[in-house]
Amino acid sequence: MASRPRRQERRARTRQAPRSSTGLVALLVAGAAILLVGGLLYRAVVGTTGASAGPRIGDHWHAPFRIMVCGERVPPLPATPGDIHSHGDDVIHIHPSTSATTGRNATLAAFLATTTMRVTPTELSVGGRTYRTGDACPDGRPGRVSVLVNGRALENFLEYVPRDGDRVEFVFGP
Ligand SMILES: [Zn+2]
Ligand SMILES: [Zn+2]
Repeated sequence: MASRPRRQERRARTRQAPRSSTGLVALLVAGAAILLVGGLLYRAVVGTTGASAGPRIGDHWHAPFRIMVCGERVPPLPATPGDIHSHGDDVIHIHPSTSATTGRNATLAAFLATTTMRVTPTELSVGGRTYRTGDACPDGRPGRVSVLVNGRALENFLEYVPRDGDRVEFVFGP
């Protein structure tokens, strides 16, 4: 005759389940809120310290990137050497070993200089092909060069110092 209490137990447990998952959701929401506020504070602090907040010796930052030409993703660039390099993984790895690649020196230009790709405000050369402002994409529309970081187009992209976790896009397109 142990079946009835066991069934009650089971019912009690299933009744409890939604309550504990509500608790979990509340916890996740609280966690997300904390992360959001923390992120905003971090941004505010970094924003005020401004340009000097580049990488230091011993840091190891990663900024994934992709190259888009007329809407098509270009295959990953080959691995490149140096303190600011990639492993053929389309990620900029920034780990300064000297002051030559710390702080304001750790620019996109410094990274590009190690690669076979060339990017200027009017020209993008990659994979043995060069695309210039006004060159037509296959759909006939003229393209131009832009560089986006976290979805935002940059004016002086060559001077930009990528932050850890930045997502960079080198784009030629309409
Ligand atoms: Zn790395
Ligand atoms: Zn590395």
